[in-house]
Amino acid sequence: MRQIENFIAGEYRAAASDRRFDKRSPLDNRVIASVSEAGRDEVDAAVQAAHAALQGEWGTMSTERRVELLYAVANEITRRFDDFVEAEMADTGQPEHVMKHVFIPRGAANFKVFADTIKNVASESFRTDTPDGRGALNYAIRKPKGVIGVICPWNAPFMLMTWKVGPALACGNAVVVKPSEESPQTAALLGEVMNAVGIPKGVYNVVHGFGPDSAGEFVTRHPGVDAITFTGETRTGTAIMKAAAEGMRDVSFELGGKNAGIVFADADFDAAVEGFSRSVFLNTGQVCLGTERVYVERPIFQRFVQALKAKAEAVKYGRPEVHDSNFGPLISLEHQQKVLSYYRKAIEEGATLVTGGGVPDMPGELAEGAWIQPTIWTGLSETAAVVREEIFGPCCHIAPFDSEDEVVAKANATEYGLSTTIWTSNLARAHRVAERVDVGITWINSWFLRDLRTPFGGSKQSGIGREGGVHSLEFYTETRNICVKL
Ligand code: NAD
Repeated sequence: MRQIENFIAGEYRAAASDRRFDKRSPLDNRVIASVSEAGRDEVDAAVQAAHAALQGEWGTMSTERRVELLYAVANEITRRFDDFVEAEMADTGQPEHVMKHVFIPRGAANFKVFADTIKNVASESFRTDTPDGRGALNYAIRKPKGVIGVICPWNAPFMLMTWKVGPALACGNAVVVKPSEESPQTAALLGEVMNAVGIPKGVYNVVHGFGPDSAGEFVTRHPGVDAITFTGETRTGTAIMKAAAEGMRDVSFELGGKNAGIVFADADFDAAVEGFSRSVFLNTGQVCLGTERVYVERPIFQRFVQALKAKAEAVKYGRPEVHDSNFGPLISLEHQQKVLSYYRKAIEEGATLVTGGGVPDMPGELAEGAWIQPTIWTGLSETAAVVREEIFGPCCHIAPFDSEDEVVAKANATEYGLSTTIWTSNLARAHRVAERVDVGITWINSWFLRDLRTPFGGSKQSGIGREGGVHSLEFYTETRNICVKL
């Protein structure tokens, strides 16, 4: 069993209180790690270490050197690729090929992309007329915000954490990261990488624990934390925003969703089915951008339901390292109970169960894990809880529609606004509908096709602010104007 410690000022430290919690494998509920739970003292030490780093070498380092170091971080992650794959797989139980092809390479890329961004981005300047005719020159500079609190979820832990740490460090900040209690391992491992490549001590700190009355709350309430970036549930975002109000700290929030996907009858049918088999079932449905509401134009509705059913029934459950398994468990038994409660609710609400609806029969010790069947319903009203609330499982409700106006109204009838995926071969319609759906990210004839330079974030209750490319710099730096009278 692994011992996972907090990483503060370049050193792994157990909490002075000796409080620890168990990390269990989602595969079989076995305890796989004992994690040190940071108390107020450890969070305070991490924040102090981050400030000390900003006062030291890191605070005066040239952009060029910082960029070199971030490239070295990315290269060291790649050198230790198998360790990261193994750690993330152990925490989440998700298939090895997803770790190897998406989550861990993206984690490394997050350091390179934002190193390139900070090196290449221009700042604005204005020549200003003055009554004496000599004029003035205004120019803007970017300064790091200071110490950034980074609060992370468990669903793609390394990719989502580095998506924040990469730009934060590229901009010259120091960070205190609070990974999810369900996925502590890769954040801890990254400390070794930081030390190996010579990132100054205190620039990257990790404190483990839970949310309320634990490390999460201690970080977000700490007056020494200058800004907070958070990915997780909208409800948690509300609590964090209240904490951030004290001291007027800035926030960047990537929150929940109840994303709609739209299939028009003229779509490439097979490509659409393939797209939805990913957007509904990938990562066992635990993707914030995933689709839980599918709207299909009536002429192809029945055929589409049957085709997606076939995809759901073809998933291969199994341990992540087993070659042909492509469907892992949910993150925990607790989350499994939450998803199953929606599976029951769907039936109570009068859904037609197309497939799934329960827990698969798993052999041996896997029977103890958080496994779940991919599930499809039809026949619910738009007001059903299962159609309104984020479930965060491998499930969707499919409803037919008859007109563009109708489907846009249905897609928008939610307090969330994270993403949508639209399938049609009529490009004029694709652009038209894309502009009308109130979300931060729209994919047309694709899903989860990411370019890290593009603005990423949610509308309505799905987020505040945008990250990605230069948009990350808006949050991780403060723009200051300097006016020179000529
Ligand atoms: P969560 O909100 O339960 O927890 C996220 C993190 O916040 C954890 O580290 C947790 O310990 C911490 N936390 C909880 N309460 C806190 C508090 N009061 N103060 C400070 N920290 C606190 O979310 P989760 O279950 O880990 O992740 C799933 C959610 O994340 C889903 O809603 C999903 O849609 C969302 N998500 C959104 C995006 C996006 O980009 N918009 C990406 C991934 C996940």
